Amino acid sequence: MTITLKFCGGARTVTGSTHLLSADRSNVLLDCGLFHGRRDEFYSVNSSFSFNPQNLCACILSHAHIDHCGNLPTLIKKGYRKHIFATPPTKELCRYMLPDSGYVQEEDVKFVNKINRGRGVALRYPLYTKQEAQNTLKYIRSLEYHSRFTLSKEIDLTFFNSGHILGASVPVLDVKTGQGSMIRIAYAVDLGRYRMPLLRDPESPKDIDYLIIESTYGGRSHASIEVAEEELGSAINRTVKRGGKVIIPSFALERTQLMVFFINRLIKRKKIKKLPIYVDSPLAVNLTEVFRQNWEYFDESYKKAFLDEKDRLGFDDVTYVTSVDESKRLNEEKRPMVIISASGMCENGRILHHLRNNIENPHNTIVVVGFMAKETLGRRIVERERVVKIFGRPYHLNAEVITLNAFSSHADKDGLVDYIKSLGSVRKVFIVHGEEEQSEALRDNLKKLNIKAHIPAKEETVFLGKKR
Ligand SMILES: [Zn+2]
Repeated sequence: MTITLKFCGGARTVTGSTHLLSADRSNVLLDCGLFHGRRDEFYSVNSSFSFNPQNLCACILSHAHIDHCGNLPTLIKKGYRKHIFATPPTKELCRYMLPDSGYVQEEDVKFVNKINRGRGVALRYPLYTKQEAQNTLKYIRSLEYHSRFTLSKEIDLTFFNSGHILGASVPVLDVKTGQGSMIRIAYAVDLGRYRMPLLRDPESPKDIDYLIIESTYGGRSHASIEVAEEELGSAINRTVKRGGKVIIPSFALERTQLMVFFINRLIKRKKIKKLPIYVDSPLAVNLTEVFRQNWEYFDESYKKAFLDEKDRLGFDDVTYVTSVDESKRLNEEKRPMVIISASGMCENGRILHHLRNNIENPHNTIVVVGFMAKETLGRRIVERERVVKIFGRPYHLNAEVITLNAFSSHADKDGLVDYIKSLGSVRKVFIVHGEEEQSEALRDNLKKLNIKAHIPAKEETVFLGKKR
């Protein structure tokens, strides 16, 4: 009997993380993420699996980002009926992330069908609906960090903290190979950074034989977070002086809560004057509530800050906008303010309305705080294209644009190498979740340290050991 690992998604690309560990009759799925691509590709890649979901004995979810959890409803639709294991905060975050994903797909399909109506094009259907996403939630079972759980006769699971976002984990799988020996596999996809506010540092489990690791920033370094905070403060001050608005496109999960925290800290440290801060994303409002409820998972120093009534991490000093009318009213207000809104890459959501209304005014500033993939409006703004299209109409990009990548929740090239070194002697590292040049840069850095590394292709299967 052999122990194998199959890379079913998120290999040599960033999205769609899905990997299959097999030992004897135990097949365990690691993540089931959505692949992001153009509409047709999105549907064809996400709607089928190269394994039978009914043959799985467990599914393990590392964290609540959609490129890791977003295809779980398809797994259920295809007949998976066992547990999906996740930490308690991840389970809570999924209560909002998955139905939101279903809703976004339903809306997209409605939009496309409306355009195609009368052209004789077949109707499209969403990959899954909001209701189907909700049906998935009952299969998620929470398991605390550091508590070892027996998934099957062959495989045990333990979650360690990955420091990436609230609730994120490095799942460690102990595969029994007979006569008291075993193979230990760690899954660090995604991996966070050391010394980030709110979050605990990534933990290094011991005696790891094989490591699967992300490489989003395999060849790039982040500036220090302190410098980014200073730059954010200066940008807000400049904009206020001009009488403009600060628009921050942000992912609803984690980045929004971090931005609120940093702006609040700048006010407390008197680096900027108090000004109205709006979080305009119904999803972000719900996710912030999960942060409030799960304060015990914060880093020790922030746990204390959160419990101090006078310092609620800034979450209380913000106006959370849920209704469309309130959102539209923000456009009529002329005073300086900060608007944080989704989506993070400016592809859909309310951020599009704020950009449309503010992008042509040179008094305003767009602050980019996250990764912008190629071909997105966000990337065009980062590259300062003179004219950009929003809702199909051209707009002049006259607003100031600043990019602060240092707020990333992914380890950079040194962070990844330091983490791998902290695990001791690993037999082999499998590099996934990165654009090819980033994965190659990490592999080359590991080679210099005589650490064996491999960049698997999608659907490649590797042999990890034999059961005696
Ligand atoms: Zn992530």
